[in-house]
Amino acid sequence: MESRYAKIVCTTGPSSSDPDVLRELIKNGMDVARLNFSHADHETHQRTTDIIRKEAQALKKNIAIMQDLQGIKIRISEIKDGGFHLQTGEKILIYPGNEISTRDAMYISYPALLEDVKAGDRILIDDGLIQLLVTSKGKKALEAEAIEGGFIKSKKGANLPNSKTTITSFTDKDKKDLEFGLKLGVDYVAISFVRSARDIELIQQWAKEKGFDLPPLIAKIEKSQALECIDEIMDAVEGIMVARGDLGVETDPERVPIIQKKLISLANRKGKLVITATQMLESMTKHTRPTRAEASDVANAVLDGTDALMLSGETAAGAFPIEAVKMMDKIIRYTEKEKISPQQVVTNYQGTNLFPEAVAEGACQAARAIGAKAIVVFTHSGFAAKLISKLRPSVPIIAFTPDRKTLNRLPLYWGVSGYLIERRDVEILDSDLISEIEKTLITENKLNRGDKIVFVASSPFLGKPNIIRLQQL
Ligand code: PEP
Repeated sequence: MESRYAKIVCTTGPSSSDPDVLRELIKNGMDVARLNFSHADHETHQRTTDIIRKEAQALKKNIAIMQDLQGIKIRISEIKDGGFHLQTGEKILIYPGNEISTRDAMYISYPALLEDVKAGDRILIDDGLIQLLVTSKGKKALEAEAIEGGFIKSKKGANLPNSKTTITSFTDKDKKDLEFGLKLGVDYVAISFVRSARDIELIQQWAKEKGFDLPPLIAKIEKSQALECIDEIMDAVEGIMVARGDLGVETDPERVPIIQKKLISLANRKGKLVITATQMLESMTKHTRPTRAEASDVANAVLDGTDALMLSGETAAGAFPIEAVKMMDKIIRYTEKEKISPQQVVTNYQGTNLFPEAVAEGACQAARAIGAKAIVVFTHSGFAAKLISKLRPSVPIIAFTPDRKTLNRLPLYWGVSGYLIERRDVEILDSDLISEIEKTLITENKLNRGDKIVFVASSPFLGKPNIIRLQQL
């Protein structure tokens, strides 16, 4: 089967906790599993990770695990009997805290609620479906009126789009969760509600003090404050997530498509990873087929040049998790095959490392010129594979690395698949090494005898890529 270039992130949850379902997700296109620490306990995430690792190994697939920290995600508490209906025009009292909510007293998990929110501010619930206007502030609670009512369910997210939130973004829960995630050996950590590079630095400082090694960080862009200093945020992380759910509530839905395009373009220009997330196939939480608008949304994110696309509720809580990943895989493949021009997948990477970039560009050009079937790259940290990926070559990138940690991160890179190699002195592209690689690629059905390939290597291996070798298998 033809390669798929853009990658798929699947959020795990009750709909995908069963080993059979996880196996099918892996078989049908999941590249990265996202453990959402806004939901589920450590035991559940441990179990899910164990199953994924076991099944992935059995299927000989490489799956990255991404931990998603809750951050200062604000939620309403558990509601007695699961929820209640609030009519438009009705009033409700809102308290800071996590006690059980009822129709008379709703609790919101933001300790500084009474300090940071004032009369006239809006509180949005459930991705903005329910809108409240704060009418007055008492000593213990806010009083708010429903401008747009609806059924409020337990644990739904709440946003305070007009309030300047003062609570630190790296919460005690995040610290416990991150410590757990690091022990679990997660491959990426996504950070929610990043407002500035300071939010990233806090985490890095904490890890340094504790003596922990952090995996690559992904900043979730979902606050307008983050858009104001997006350059410094991107420079501080490995990649970003266009977290359209909260972004569309914290800003406005009509702004989301253009913000998405600008963020993808900026990330690609800077050589950062970018994941486009949320509601991509939302209707598939209930139906076996997506709406035409959703199919277009997936295709357009691919054409915008995203590295990866994310399924959230579709695989975490929906009725058709396997169908959703199959559908996303089909739309991406079709779009990549049929795109109107090769330039349609945006490649605007502007690097600053002259040598490696010249080599990576040369490899992409050579691949086109000789009609190569793949670019094979030897990479220690993953840098060379990511660099070539960001140049969006016309053929798949096959990465060989001696470092298991690097191997586990490759599934998020556009167009890259990876293999572990035992030899560490791969800077010497000698005939033994070449024939070992050829054997692997042919037995894995990646390539056939007679195929042309472009090798990229570094000498010394721990340095940056500086060698191109052309080869016919
Ligand atoms: C989002 O808001 O789009 C998002 C990805 O974050 P979460 O799913 O954690 O709300």
